Amino acid sequence: MARSSRRKFLQAGLILPAAGFVSSHNLNAFAQGFAGAAYRQLGKTGLKVSGVGSGVGITPDPDVIARAIDLGVNYFDTARGYGEGNSERITGAALKGKRNKVVLATKTDGRTKADIIKDMDASLKALDTDHVDIYHLHSRDTPETITDEAVEACEMLKKQGKTRFMGVSTHDVNAVANHILKIGKFDVVQTNYSYALGAPFRQAAIARLHEAGIGVVAMKVIIAVAGFVPKEIKLPQEGPLAALKWVLMNPAISTTVPYAKNTIELEMNARAMTEHYTPEDEKMLYVRNQAIRPLYCRMCYECKGKCPKNVPVTDELRFLAYNDFGGNFNQARDNFLRMPDEIRSVRCSNCSLCVIQCPNGVEVRNRLIRAQTLLA
Ligand code: SF4
Ligand code: SF4
Repeated sequence: MARSSRRKFLQAGLILPAAGFVSSHNLNAFAQGFAGAAYRQLGKTGLKVSGVGSGVGITPDPDVIARAIDLGVNYFDTARGYGEGNSERITGAALKGKRNKVVLATKTDGRTKADIIKDMDASLKALDTDHVDIYHLHSRDTPETITDEAVEACEMLKKQGKTRFMGVSTHDVNAVANHILKIGKFDVVQTNYSYALGAPFRQAAIARLHEAGIGVVAMKVIIAVAGFVPKEIKLPQEGPLAALKWVLMNPAISTTVPYAKNTIELEMNARAMTEHYTPEDEKMLYVRNQAIRPLYCRMCYECKGKCPKNVPVTDELRFLAYNDFGGNFNQARDNFLRMPDEIRSVRCSNCSLCVIQCPNGVEVRNRLIRAQTLLA
């Protein structure tokens, strides 16, 4: 970390353990278990981003955003669809006068050229800025959802200066990485990556993107920090910090976008940029991983297309996780209700036996019944 950066963290009141201090020169230390340098290159964009960024979420807290900037966090991620524009509006207001200090990413759910362009104008207005740094095609989990038309729209917006760079956010990086590389126009990919979701089935695709100069942003890094977790499951308090440190050990990850609901959580997250990943962290993550095993879908997509009634198992379990692990019922329900009628009306409770045997130990039928009862 540059001396000025370290000073910034110190001024902000964070304790930097000497042993955890990593200079930007010794990136090789990642392999030996360091969490990593505070600032990293975002692929070939030329942007330097903090290893811990901020996923501002559906209802951002302006105090958290202000404190994040004080701490040196410089990557902020939102989306047009979060809270139907509220997330962008609050973020824009919180960034007033500080816009040039941050790298700002937003996303569009638009599928047609017209919708993508319309979304961008709405985003810029809500964010109170004349450009974003990264414009993602949101939640594109199959190659077919990254269409020529969508790519053309993003290129046009880039030419117009409304976005500096183009990105894709995806829950299934394995499915889309080669397509993105073949298109050759995207600068950034945002995907889920965590101790529970990571190895080994995402690692190779992430490495390929990184080697091609695409900045990789990790999302869904922290699991079970908020929301519903069954009482009998005891989760270690510092798990989120360990989870971030685990992700930052991967040099192919440029930044992360954890959500912090208050400044205490934010400050804990920021520590991941300055501390070692330790054997205690490893143990803690093992305990957490075991505890959430039957409940948390790893999004490996092994069960894709296997339900005879066409239940999109991974999607429904992800929506449930927004509530059960993210504590956000509205986000969970909104996503569930966006599925076509014929899909969301299927009830797993009418199936006596589920054909899906999850290799990761998720109790698929039970969890789907909970999703369909809670969110329908
Ligand atoms: S339910 Fe299991 S098999 Fe299906 S995506 Fe989730 S982790 Fe993979
Ligand atoms: S319980 Fe039945 S409907 Fe539900 S996912 Fe399994 S096979 Fe499909």
